[in-house]
This record gives sequence, structure tokens and C-alpha cells, in this order.
Amino acid sequence: MLKLNYPILIGLLLAFFNAATAADKTPSFSRADLAAAATLREKASADTTAYQLIESLTTEVGPRPAGSPGDKAAVEWALREMKRLGFANVHTENVWVPHWVRGEAEFSVLAPYPQTMPTLALGGSVGTGDEGIEADAVMVKDLDALAALPSGAVKGKIVFFSNRMDRARDGAGYGKAVAVRAAGPSKASEAGAIGVVIRSVGTSDARFPHTGTTRYTNTAPRIPALAISNPDADALVRQFGSGKPVRLRIRSSSRDLPPMPSANVVGEIPGTDLANEIVILGAHLDSWDPGVGALDDGAGVAIMMGVANLIGSLDAKPRRTIRVVLFANEEFGTSGSLGYLAANEADVPRHVLGLEADFGAGPVWRLSSRVAPAQLPAVDQIFKALAPLKLVRGDNEARGGADLEGLSKRGMAILEPGLDGTHYFDVHHTANDTLAQIDPKALRQSLAAFATTVWLGAQFTGTWERVTTEKPARR
Ligand SMILES: [Zn+2]
Repeated sequence: MLKLNYPILIGLLLAFFNAATAADKTPSFSRADLAAAATLREKASADTTAYQLIESLTTEVGPRPAGSPGDKAAVEWALREMKRLGFANVHTENVWVPHWVRGEAEFSVLAPYPQTMPTLALGGSVGTGDEGIEADAVMVKDLDALAALPSGAVKGKIVFFSNRMDRARDGAGYGKAVAVRAAGPSKASEAGAIGVVIRSVGTSDARFPHTGTTRYTNTAPRIPALAISNPDADALVRQFGSGKPVRLRIRSSSRDLPPMPSANVVGEIPGTDLANEIVILGAHLDSWDPGVGALDDGAGVAIMMGVANLIGSLDAKPRRTIRVVLFANEEFGTSGSLGYLAANEADVPRHVLGLEADFGAGPVWRLSSRVAPAQLPAVDQIFKALAPLKLVRGDNEARGGADLEGLSKRGMAILEPGLDGTHYFDVHHTANDTLAQIDPKALRQSLAAFATTVWLGAQFTGTWERVTTEKPARR
């Protein structure tokens, strides 16, 4: 049996507690920087720059899908606005983007009860040809239900996926539901189907279909794929419920054109003693085309530009360089962020911390992170500085967004002020994504949360170490 030497044990314990207390007392932020954070938070809470930027982007540019004239106009808009706000090192970094054209789409139930319903082609869908496609339909809930059908069950038919997305504050329902949109068309084609209709991946009962990318595999013919709104999907489910054969007609003039040049737009607030280290603020400049991309991602663009503008207007200068990157084409294959990573390969280790805003206009309700364990006390202090905004402390398994995923996988630390997504998927990728969906008060609160977090992230007295833990699975 181990004989304990109490004086030594007590000495060790005391030493441990002293060390722990000392670590707790190591200030992650100077008093001056915490005071500036409070000033920023207050200023942001009354700042209208972000709203004005969304207003300008949605009015003067409007829809901006990859490769479109709007895409080009958005790049010019961002260059102009970054310069107007006085950012440094404003420039574009060219990337190539796919150029898919939506065209027109039609969807009709021919039997048992004829009706025509509004529809949108899924992004990247092939067209049907002028004559359209008319066929009997098979309803399945999701990919598992499709896989469970007997062989030949959908041969020569149109598959209708009926699964409904769940509403959640953190958007958790999206990850579960979106597989049907991404993989459904190719899976149905592998099983012999000639067309696909999905219930929109969205949470609203308004009669707006939601578009979004589908991803064809090379193992099956590319078949046309459309989305219908939730209320129309409910109606179609009832038609199937009649027990009578359901016959559908779809038509779409979607098509691919040759790739087009586009660009990421970059602007900075230069750092001082740690200028070589970059805090990257990411949002995406492109949008889907049915709406004008106010929430997705005009809001993110405006929050990040608004944050840099506010920090640039402080008397104090940031220690680390704050770099705003407005990425090209997030929606249809993330060519902007892939291009950024390739073009900045040598500088990847300089990207020490990243924040992304691509989940609407807020409010921010939670602070999550993905940092090395030694930096968690700093995140706790940032959370404290955000107290007046009444956030919830999230975990250390933040994923960041799609545009920072590459940098995050390479070990960049992530801070994630979580935007409230309860109503985000009512509007996401619909014609209804307009300025009217932006709540200016929620946007200002989000700006305050992001500005405070970014500022303190840039001023941290310690080191943002590389994060080596495995990345959590996508929600
Ligand atoms: Zn987005």
C-alpha cells in the first residue's frame, strides 16, 4: 500500500492550485482592450452601416449567382464599398466559377387531381428539353426509403421525396434534410428514375419553393430535379394518399454554360505588433437567383464589412491584421474558398483565427469555438465581454461555415457567434430572400457580438495555437 507523505502531498496540492490560480489570472486581454471592446459593442448596437450595405447590395446588384452579370456587378460593388469604408489592401483574387442558368421551370400534377404548382429547379439540374417529361410518380420519404424499394420500382418514373425539414435554432434540421437535395437525383437515377421532385429543404408554410445545389455523381445519367414548396408538397402527399396513380409533368430549361471568371474580394484593417497574423472574416458575395440574397449572404457580407469598419474607426489599432474576404460562389461548389486556399497556400499558417457569417441577420444567441484547450479561458473572457448581449455559452466544437472549412481543417482556430437560425430556413434560397426579411435591430445586435469577438480575438495577449483535434461531423 502506498504510504502518503502528507506534508509533501499538501505542498504539491498548494503548488498546483497556485499554478492554476496564476493561469486564471494571466490576463488574456489588456484593460484598455476590454474597454475598447465595450465601446465597440455600444457603437455597433447603434450602427446602421450594416443595414445600409445590405440595402445597397440588394438594390444595386440584386441576385448574383455564380457566373451571372450580377456576380460581376457584386465584385465591383464590394471593391467600391471597401474602398469607400477606408479598408487597406483592397483587391480581388480571381477564381473561375461554374455558370449554370436556371431558365424556366414548370410542375403539374396530371392525375388524379390536376393542378399546377410553383417550382424551382435545383441548382445544377439539367433541363428536360422543350417537350418536358410526363410520367407516373413514386413517393418516398428520403434516401433510405428509396434504397428500401424493390428493384425496378422507380424505373421510368418520377420520384417525389416527401421528407420535411425540422425547425431548429442552430439549423440542425438542415444537415439532416439536405441529403435528399444533394444526392436524391443521382440516387433516383441509379434506380432507373427519369426525374425528381423534392419537398423544399425549408421550414416555411409559405408557397415559396427553395432551390439549392444538387450534386450529380458520374455513375448515373443526370436527370432533371425540381423543388416544390411545403404546402404544395403537403397537397401532393394527399394526392398520393388517395390511393390512385399519381402522374406528373415537369419541364425545365436549365442548362450549363462555360465557366466564367469571378473573384474573391479582400480588404484589411492592418495590424500592428502582430500584423503578420491574420484574423479572417468570411462571408460570401454570391447568392441564389430567385431572391436578392439579403439574408444569404448579404447579411454576412454586411456584418463582416461593418465589423471591420467599426474596428477601423477606433483610436486603438488592432494587434493582428483583420482581413475581410468576401468569397465568390459559395452556393454552387465553394470555388471561391477553394481558390483562396490554393492561392494563399504559403500563408495558411498566418491565418490564426477565423469567423464566418453565413446564417442570416441574427440575433446572435450563442458563442461557440473551436480552439486549442489552452485558449478556452480566453474564449470565456470574450464571452464575459459579451454579457450585455445575453448569449449562451456554446461548446468547443464549432464548425465555422463552408468558406472557412479548408482553413479550419488546416488547424485555424474558430470563434463562432451563433446567429439564430429559427426562421432562417423559412426564406433560405427562395424568392422571398429580400431586404424585408432583415430585422435592423437583430442585425445591430449581431454586429455588436461579432465586433466585440473579432476585436478581442485580434488583441489576445496569448497565441492562437493550431487546433489538432478531429473536426466534428457536419450538423
Ligand atoms: Zn450562404
